Amino acid sequence: MKIGVIGTGYVGLVTAVGLADLGHQVIGTDMVKEKVDEASRGIAHIYEPGLEEILQKNLNQGNLSFTYKLDQAIRESEVLFVCVNTPQREDGSTDMCYVEGVSQQIAENLNGYKLVVEKSTVPIQTSMWIKRTITLNKKNSMDFDVASNPEFLREGSAVSDFLHPDRIIIGVETERAKNTLIEIYKKFEELLLITNIDTAELIKHASNSFLAMKISFINLLSDLCEKTDADVEKVAQGMGLDPRIGAQFLKAGLGYGGSCFPKDIRALTHIGEDMGLNFHLLKEVDRINSERIQKFVEKIKKSLWILKGKKIGVLGLSFKPQTDDIRNAPSIEVIKELLKEGAQLRVYDPQAMENMKEVFPENSPHIIYTKDSYEAAEGVNALIFITEWEEFAELDLKKIRQKMVNPIIVDGRNIFEPQQIRETGFEYYCMGRKSP
Ligand code: NAD
Repeated sequence: MKIGVIGTGYVGLVTAVGLADLGHQVIGTDMVKEKVDEASRGIAHIYEPGLEEILQKNLNQGNLSFTYKLDQAIRESEVLFVCVNTPQREDGSTDMCYVEGVSQQIAENLNGYKLVVEKSTVPIQTSMWIKRTITLNKKNSMDFDVASNPEFLREGSAVSDFLHPDRIIIGVETERAKNTLIEIYKKFEELLLITNIDTAELIKHASNSFLAMKISFINLLSDLCEKTDADVEKVAQGMGLDPRIGAQFLKAGLGYGGSCFPKDIRALTHIGEDMGLNFHLLKEVDRINSERIQKFVEKIKKSLWILKGKKIGVLGLSFKPQTDDIRNAPSIEVIKELLKEGAQLRVYDPQAMENMKEVFPENSPHIIYTKDSYEAAEGVNALIFITEWEEFAELDLKKIRQKMVNPIIVDGRNIFEPQQIRETGFEYYCMGRKSP
């Protein structure tokens, strides 16, 4: 099957590589030439465990190639997976300009039957707009179908998620489209859920909004725990043992970030309201999440009083562990607040430093990028944890303590056991559990 993957960002690059690995002939395309050049040379422009190995393997096998010529990718493919960005607009709705642009290009290059597959996260009823755009702009009578196949990969385990999915949602309205997608995903036949297109589109927004809701729910409880003797970690454990609830996404802390949850929950709210429905539940989820940053900064202030002139070590910049992605990362807002208060920062992240330097330049007098956690702890009045990278849980805390001026830790992700860390001499502030 000749497949074109349009947009080789986080989702597109993994999709292109994953589809090639399933045995298809794949051509990936992106309008950013550097991404295409790097991918062609076997270099992934993002950090994603295992991605470069499988990229190189499929390039060498000859079933994967890249081009920045979108028309070429369209003309050479029968199936087109649209993986372009669908960012948030100011009012919370989804900016569909990239999807529309690609639809117009498909119309102009329609040289035979094409199946256009929405992989990007799009508002319900987008397929209708894609169909309309292609129909209005095509220059011949060639046939085409539109289908929805939302992506559920998680950054940090994207390759493994693509190759070992828990379900594959396929929204179709013709037999031809259905059979083509069944053929593409033949290896995962028993995992397919086939629906109409509106349903498939909604499943993606609904899934992300539900997961975000779980996170905000536990964070709401976390605030109550802090006012009482309850321990939010144990509350989450107790709730999660109920199979109807499940243990995942019940982690109290700084809340969710990234390029998906914040935008998807707002998009679904907007869609609901647009249709005259009351989606206040999701607005509350968003509000609770937004409050996390301020609550965390308050904890830092509680531990240090005046922040002006204080040195603070900041560990973890990516929006979650195992990725270099800093889009909507809580770290950005926390750092902005600390700089506004006049603090001096020493920051470290295992993968996201280069991306962060584009937000907070390296030569700023108030922010120093360090080579590891120990260097970040050098001479600081407090050390704060923003992302729960595994290596942070394994730090030699004695060594860290010796480097710090004051042994204060403010942990936004509950990485440590309070009693254990306090026994090593730290004043330890955490989320939803007794702090000093
Ligand atoms: P991204 O910004 O990393 O990648 C999008 C890519 O599309 C960019 O490289 C951009 O240059 C390219 N592009 C835009 N218009 C183009 C055009 N006309 N021709 C060629 N290339 C074009 O975004 P992403 O994180 O990969 O997300 C893509 C979509 O997938 C979004 O809708 C997102 O919501 C959804 N999604 C993302 C994730 C995730 O974890 N990142 C997971 C599931 C779904």
